[in-house]
Amino acid sequence: MVRYVFITGGVVSSLGKGLASAALGALLQARGHSVRLRKLDPYLNVDPGTMSPFEHGEVFVTDDGAETDLDLGHYERFTGVSARATDSVSSGRIYSRVLERERRGDYLGKTIQVIPHVTNEIKAFINNGDDGADFMLCEIGGTVGDIEGLPFFEAIRQFSQDKPRGQCIFMHLTLLPYMEAAGELKTKPTQHSVKELRSIGIAPDVLVCRSAGPIPAKEREKLALFCNVRPDSVIAAYDLKSIYEAPLAYHHEGLDRAVLDAFGMDPALPPDLGRWHDVADRISNPEGEVKIAIIGKYTQLEDAYKSIAEALVHGGMANRTRVNVEWVDAELFEREDPAGHLEGFHAILVPGGFGERGTEGMIRAARFARERKVPYLGICLGMQMAVIEAARNVADLGDAGSEEFDHEAGKQRFTTVVYHLKEWVSGNQTVTRRADDDKGGTMRLGAYSAVLREGSQVAGIYGATAIEERHRHRYEVDIKYREQLERCGLKFSGMSPDGRLPEIVEWQDHPWFIGVQFHPELKSKPFAPHPLFADFVRAAVAASRLV
Ligand code: GLN
Repeated sequence: MVRYVFITGGVVSSLGKGLASAALGALLQARGHSVRLRKLDPYLNVDPGTMSPFEHGEVFVTDDGAETDLDLGHYERFTGVSARATDSVSSGRIYSRVLERERRGDYLGKTIQVIPHVTNEIKAFINNGDDGADFMLCEIGGTVGDIEGLPFFEAIRQFSQDKPRGQCIFMHLTLLPYMEAAGELKTKPTQHSVKELRSIGIAPDVLVCRSAGPIPAKEREKLALFCNVRPDSVIAAYDLKSIYEAPLAYHHEGLDRAVLDAFGMDPALPPDLGRWHDVADRISNPEGEVKIAIIGKYTQLEDAYKSIAEALVHGGMANRTRVNVEWVDAELFEREDPAGHLEGFHAILVPGGFGERGTEGMIRAARFARERKVPYLGICLGMQMAVIEAARNVADLGDAGSEEFDHEAGKQRFTTVVYHLKEWVSGNQTVTRRADDDKGGTMRLGAYSAVLREGSQVAGIYGATAIEERHRHRYEVDIKYREQLERCGLKFSGMSPDGRLPEIVEWQDHPWFIGVQFHPELKSKPFAPHPLFADFVRAAVAASRLV
């Protein structure tokens, strides 16, 4: 029997609901249970793939090619359970399904309404493919009271009634603001938020309260009384130095026990938290530190590169090193020489991105890394720019560029070294695209295999010659220039199995210069750092010893 935990939020947004859900997943696993996590987002985009990274942060891509909310990244990093397309849904997707079915005549004769048609579609999503997990954790995006969220709250209320008694519980996350003048944590906003929730028929079983410090007994009792929860189901969530301390901190506060208790389960044994003690120890006790510069397009919002920032933390943990990241707007290097800014960094990372803005700056950063022999990791756009840099400055293709930028400008200005991919193989099917296709969900998305060249640096790092990594891009490096570039020393050391699509390039005679067409950061975990990130940080540590 699958048990459902619905996680909602109130008072303010950005309380760390995703993190609380992920940490709860990790704690239930530590008690020997299997979990799946799901996210229900009330916005009207069909998926976050078309939203600006400035607005919504990173788009997290699943193995099966769904573009999802970045909270799914937290879920994977904390539980190691790979998310799937069926683990993420938005109002936009729900409504488009309902309208599609209405047009098809599935509801012939009926008036289509939010209740029951939209709510039924939401319930079908929650029910779909639970994999026989012991617990399904479903997080509802936004805060209670948002207009868009109402159908979701109504659907989870109905869902808990549809299931046998005791199979669903509700966990609500709120904020306890600290009033300096009164010297008190204020409970009123939480009381109001729970009142709002109860007015739509949902009574929380567990209350998780973000607060700057411990919740004094008086406030805890008040919350319990006014919000109708048990005092030991009021869980404090303090600010932590690292998010990876969350499972231990939540356990210390009794979250896992409160959740099991709400299901009437009596845990016989304490959880096995060995993995999280090791993670916390590696984070809190580094033996050295390195400085890494990230030269990107969306550097004003760190969430735009969430998985990269986390993968670097994991790489640091693998080396017992603290990784200090500096975010640099790539456009800066279009105005100023990168040398003045990048000297003193032990490694350089150029991440993914879309559109031409900032790319000349990335190319200059790649040149600096190549010439100065600074470790360089180029991810997706970062690989494409490294190849263009090599083509222009080493292989005598002075006007090399990407078709992406010519498309944007509406005219041909470059020799196309990176081209728009129109046909490729996915499993045993051929996928075709046109330049004017819809922008949503039409990229080369999800897990694809690559074959690594025997004896290459990357084959050594992976300890394998067959890998599978997640992709999200439209453009590809053209193999037309492979020989010319390889003669100059830029080796195409990873290719798609059919040999047509370059997956990895590496500079010979450079301590560590690797470009990857995929997103390795999406698969890194604190307890299993991705080999590329672990080795990249190792190379940064080696570079730091040289200066
Ligand atoms: N804009 C490039 C492409 O579509 C790179 C995408 C990315 O970095 N994710 O191929």
